[in-house]
Amino acid sequence: MTPEKEQKAIERLKLFEPPDGYYLAYSGGKDSDCIKILAQLAGVKFEAHHNLTTVDAPETVYYVRSQPDVIIDKALDANGNQITMWNLILKNLMPPTRLARYCCSELKERSGRGRVVITGVRWAESSKRKENAGTVKIIGKPKTTQKIAEEIGADYDVTRQGGLIMNDDNDESRRMVEQCYRTTKTMVNPIIDWIDNDVWDFLNYYGCKSNPLYECGFKRIGCIGCPVAGKHRYVEFMRYPKFKNIYIAVFDKMLKRREELGKAANLSWKTGLDVFRWWMGEDFTQITFDDLEEL
Ligand code: SF4
Repeated sequence: MTPEKEQKAIERLKLFEPPDGYYLAYSGGKDSDCIKILAQLAGVKFEAHHNLTTVDAPETVYYVRSQPDVIIDKALDANGNQITMWNLILKNLMPPTRLARYCCSELKERSGRGRVVITGVRWAESSKRKENAGTVKIIGKPKTTQKIAEEIGADYDVTRQGGLIMNDDNDESRRMVEQCYRTTKTMVNPIIDWIDNDVWDFLNYYGCKSNPLYECGFKRIGCIGCPVAGKHRYVEFMRYPKFKNIYIAVFDKMLKRREELGKAANLSWKTGLDVFRWWMGEDFTQITFDDLEEL
């Protein structure tokens, strides 16, 4: 980790600071610890928010709760009822999968609209991130944002999903953020170019051990059973068998609901355990997404 990288991240935060302060997306993982410390070092105004997903590891919940400067938010529906992973599965009639990650948009991505959000997104996390994220990312109203970018003379790229990304820390990018953030989802990613070692060097230097799960060998902190975690879910369900049981019980209810709605006809799933095994990639009597959609 070079002092220049740290300084650059601090400068980015200062450059894009909005008058009402940042909304800092705090997940309880190491990257979010970095951005919180960086925001403090930069002296920018911010509120750190953590979204309760209802499938966070208990260690993560305790770790987040131990920090008085983090606000914990529950996802609520239009009637003020809490949205949980469990009621989302029943509503969508299928488990969340890599291709159908309906839970993220409901549990994690609703917050921060109309604010400039600081995230801990890094290119090193995946090749997809490399394509889809920059120092600044603006989602929503693609035609308007591109028109504004042209007028301002900002250098931008458009992602496949129509988001606009910028990698310059200059006045044009700052003006873009100023003009767009109230009507779009605007994210500033100060550590976009950090690699894992940068993150750990930085945290060690500032005396932050981060989430205790890292000391238990976890490389990634996220929802228990997240389909993106692939085979790591086996480790998670061995550590948290109660969550496995809840998933199976909810899949049982989901099958019942499919039956009530007349959507069960061709499925080979008979029990919640069948669904769980399919979901974990163990059941090769494959049901495809097409099967699910047709029913
Ligand atoms: S399980 Fe994965 S996809 Fe779903 S909310 Fe959690 S992180 Fe997002």
